[in-house]
Amino acid sequence: MSTAALKMPLLLERLGSMTAIRDTELLEQSLLKTLGAELGVADLSLYKTDEYQRCMGVLNHHRSVLMERDGVERVTERIETVYQNVDIPADVVSLMDNVHLTHKPSHWTVRDSTLIVYPLLNGQRLCGHIVLRKPQPLSDTENAIVHGVLEVYANYYSLLDDSQRDRLTGLYNRNALETGVERMWPLLAQHGRTQSPSRRRTAEYDYWLAMLDIDHFKRVNDNHGHVVGDEILLLVSRMVADCFRKGDLVYRYGGEEFLAITSAASEADVLDVMDRVRLRVEGHRFPQVGHITISIGVARVDPQHSAQEIIARADRTLYQAKRDGRNRTYCYELLRAEGVLPTLHFGSAELF
Ligand code: GH3
Ligand code: MG
Ligand code: MG
Repeated sequence: MSTAALKMPLLLERLGSMTAIRDTELLEQSLLKTLGAELGVADLSLYKTDEYQRCMGVLNHHRSVLMERDGVERVTERIETVYQNVDIPADVVSLMDNVHLTHKPSHWTVRDSTLIVYPLLNGQRLCGHIVLRKPQPLSDTENAIVHGVLEVYANYYSLLDDSQRDRLTGLYNRNALETGVERMWPLLAQHGRTQSPSRRRTAEYDYWLAMLDIDHFKRVNDNHGHVVGDEILLLVSRMVADCFRKGDLVYRYGGEEFLAITSAASEADVLDVMDRVRLRVEGHRFPQVGHITISIGVARVDPQHSAQEIIARADRTLYQAKRDGRNRTYCYELLRAEGVLPTLHFGSAELF
């Protein structure tokens, strides 16, 4: 039997497990494992890029095959993920530039080493680059395998992305928040500052979580109907998303509520950012309805507390903004310092 025939069931099995994975990052890891095994390369990387082609992180996959004494191969695989200060080699950057322009693979052979960069597409959008080195260029069969695997990945990725997005606004939905927050929290704990002196970090900023809620939205529906209500929701969601930086996270949390996670150096700075969002909405003339406003409650992400606890703090702060007349931005830490709010401990309150 030829090696190609032997390899097919393995490839199908890997593709099977790839499509069974319901999480984008696990899917990316599985993609690297599949390609690593099919091409027999030791090192493969996936550089993830945003819509401006800035690198948001890299997954490095290392694979080694050891021949045991009894002649059985033992494969070890290791995946390392880097999200901060990603260092991209200069030769990889120049090939990535070509791939960015053409959305086609690009390679460079120097003596006995070929560097290959493949585009990773999500629909029409370039969302990453697969980078590998081999002693010689890929054969036609290997090329066909890579193309096939990347196509399956792209189709599945866009399905997965759809399931994480809210249909009306296109923002990430509650489901994406629930899965994302679990993975995010330990990372925030590593990079953000904490109040505990024993765990103090050198980071110059904190993460903040904000709940944003449209004021008196029920009246919009009551007075103008649901279709107009939907249009207003879409417009507000675009304005809100527009006011944040790329890399900040914005979710549609519920009906007319949004949740955002951003970084800022102080209470004053985060209030500044949030108030810009509030003023942008306040200053807009909406079709049919005219002016509407939003209220915002923000709380510092203290990684010593659960995500649920911080969401509850932001929510309680938002409630205070509503009570005090709406169209305002409040910060939990400041309200607590002023004695308006007590230190809140919600324990394991169910918020999802
Ligand atoms: P408050 O200022 O206290 O937040 O008042 P509110 O009227 O905004 O809040 P309330 O929770 O009483 O009502 C929220 C309304 O949002 C009720 C619901 O019909 C509407 N809503 C929720 N989701 C959607 C949606 O997808 N489309 C439309 N058109 N309306 C929605
Ligand atoms: Mg509301
Ligand atoms: Mg609400």
